[in-house]
Amino acid sequence: MRVLVINSGSSSLKYQVRDTESNEIGATGLIERIGEGAGGPANHGEAMDQVAAALEAGLAEKPLDAVGHRVVHGGERFSEPVLINNEITRAIERLNPLAPLHNPANVLGIRAITAKWPDMPQVAVFDTAFHRTLPEHAWRYAVPDSLYRKYGIRRYGFHGTSHEFVTARAAELLGVPVEDFNAVVAHLGNGASLAAVKGGASIDTSMGFTPLEGLVMGTRSGDIDPSILVFLQRQGLSADEIDTLLNRESGLKALFGDNDMRAIVDAAEAGDKQAQVALDVTSYRLAKYIGGYHVAVGGAQAIVFTAGIGENSAAFREQVVARLGALGVKLDGAANLVRSGSPRVVSTPDSAIAVLVVPTDEEQAIAEATAAVVLAS
Ligand code: AMP
Repeated sequence: MRVLVINSGSSSLKYQVRDTESNEIGATGLIERIGEGAGGPANHGEAMDQVAAALEAGLAEKPLDAVGHRVVHGGERFSEPVLINNEITRAIERLNPLAPLHNPANVLGIRAITAKWPDMPQVAVFDTAFHRTLPEHAWRYAVPDSLYRKYGIRRYGFHGTSHEFVTARAAELLGVPVEDFNAVVAHLGNGASLAAVKGGASIDTSMGFTPLEGLVMGTRSGDIDPSILVFLQRQGLSADEIDTLLNRESGLKALFGDNDMRAIVDAAEAGDKQAQVALDVTSYRLAKYIGGYHVAVGGAQAIVFTAGIGENSAAFREQVVARLGALGVKLDGAANLVRSGSPRVVSTPDSAIAVLVVPTDEEQAIAEATAAVVLAS
């Protein structure tokens, strides 16, 4: 099946055509500055016109069978990918307040396709869906229930498509049926989150009501004392300023001045103190979470690294695993340095928990999920 995978952001639209039988990657592209003037498309409809124009030559030969959308927030309703109809689109739209930057863009992307190709099957694949198996003790915040009932304030978790994809491949690599697989999965990209996987299902995850909670990320603070927000507000900062501060000006960017892990590792190796502090704060937080999730899953069989930093930074993996000595985790130094696009083990045979590097591929995961839903419909 040929699937067009769409990832709409508020002002950008990423697309990729995937063949789910051959796993071949077809046309791929990014349209930016939507609605920002300066020669960019005026809206998501125009952006879709550009995608269609870019795809035209290829489509004549090999038409599309379906479109798969990455939808950030599926709220409490969506625990699986679904075939989109008007009611589903409206349900995604009703979740706009929970993901004000993302869901409106996803809905615009869906409507643009509906207008352009009314008969094209479309599937929504939700970033929150894999975490719908979180038990109440993991998703509930210790705040008055009215906040949950009135505003839906609870932990949802994100990066679910990646966590699920990587979990399946890690289990396969170790030859364990996924329903018997316990693991801690670390998706470490510019955004970063951890999933505690028990019996193949997510039972905890480090992102919460929004993607801000949890690990130290490229530009996000992760966990901080919530009173800091109130304190800053009393100092005169607005809600928008605090939002920008914690989501865009914090994390590695704040600790080092740059959120690129390569630059941080290079600087630390050259003796830069601030770079080492950035690595220490980030790896220490992550190691604490891994220890906690090892307990949560009742003993992990594997710790799995994925995404930009997890897949590519041998130095960062080494810093993290060095903090896991109490768990009997041992890295194989040589295996850790191997660069490869394949899933691999980077721990020693006598490590108490296997350490894996498993490349993620959200487009492939979305294309496969889309094909499965369309074939079953
Ligand atoms: P992602 O969001 O998954 O695309 O990951 C992006 C992040 O991966 C970048 O901000 C980099 O810090 C990091 N990254 C990519 N390649 C490397 C590399 N070779 N070494 C260290 N970090 C890398």
